[in-house]
Amino acid sequence: MITYCKLCLFPSSKPDLYFDSDGTCAACLSYRHRSEIDWEKRKGEFIELVSKVNKTNKTNWDCIVPVSGGKDSTAQVLKMLELGFNPLCVTATTCDLTPIGRENIQNIKNLGVDYVEFSPNPLVRRKLNRIGLEQVGDISWPEHVGIFTIPVRAAVQYNVPLIIWGENSQNEYGGPAADAANNVLTRSWLEEFGGLLGLRVSDLPASFGIRDNQILPYQYPSDDELQRVGVTGLFLGHYFPWNGHTNYMLAQANGFKSFGKVIEGSIVDYENVDNFQTGIHDYFKFLKFGFGRATDLISIHMRRGHISRDQGVALSKKHDGKFPWTYLDKNLSEILKPLQISTQEFQSICDKFTNESLFQTDSNGVLIRDESNSLIKTNYDNVD
Ligand SMILES: [Zn+2]
Repeated sequence: MITYCKLCLFPSSKPDLYFDSDGTCAACLSYRHRSEIDWEKRKGEFIELVSKVNKTNKTNWDCIVPVSGGKDSTAQVLKMLELGFNPLCVTATTCDLTPIGRENIQNIKNLGVDYVEFSPNPLVRRKLNRIGLEQVGDISWPEHVGIFTIPVRAAVQYNVPLIIWGENSQNEYGGPAADAANNVLTRSWLEEFGGLLGLRVSDLPASFGIRDNQILPYQYPSDDELQRVGVTGLFLGHYFPWNGHTNYMLAQANGFKSFGKVIEGSIVDYENVDNFQTGIHDYFKFLKFGFGRATDLISIHMRRGHISRDQGVALSKKHDGKFPWTYLDKNLSEILKPLQISTQEFQSICDKFTNESLFQTDSNGVLIRDESNSLIKTNYDNVD
């Protein structure tokens, strides 16, 4: 049986998720805490900290803003411009960039910023996608490392000490670092919460025929380099109210494009539109932990009282964790082709990472699949 948070649909199977004695999850506790925040005071702290960090900055740029091209990063750039900053935006391009993702990157450039796009060697990256999928059940492993390492490398490269990240994912998603390390992103934050899943970058070359000099983009700079530049990473979401849907509205009003219909495995059309591999990434989360992207979004809105528990449960049944036959209308076999993985091989990798205790089985203990090859959870809400 899966146990769920009493206020949202986060399951106890979610890694590192803390529940209080009342059965409320850390993400809900963290959200409740937000209403007590004095945002004017936080803004003051932000301005003070920024000017302190920037004392040693001799470049034209006030900060690095890591951007994906998504709605959050578009809103983040708008916020920095509104505050009078001249940012250098840095994108680590996604593993399988979509045409909409390309348009949205172009749109951020046109907001009026200097911009660096870094695209790691695609042949090495495909190997890493495959290694990530087969070894730790995460096709997006190289991307999740690169979105943290590449902007920090850029900070060192361009001598810009300040990095302004978006939201601390530990807040909305309820990780243990939500309170302790709320405002800064450090090497230890990355190593613990950045999605490395125990697969160490330094272990890769020897084991998988990748050369040492090909994994630099996935490695955090040395402590010496970081100290020379004085790199400090702050989370914007710690200092200013952060809301995904508001970010979407602001981004859309400034040229951001969405998919135009509800995305597979989601309940909206406006997020994760920049990488065809995201559907596979989200599906594996469902197989391992019994929740996918739809549940993340549903829970955000339940926490805020925007949708009822009954509505939330119905939406999660309908949208969460469906077998990813397509993502953003691209066929699974086409998405897997560059990685040289067949649909059959994909299914067996899925089976390897499925936590069978979360899903219904027949009398012989074999997983039950519906007509679309999707698994059915043992329970979609708490059972008395
Ligand atoms: Zn919760």
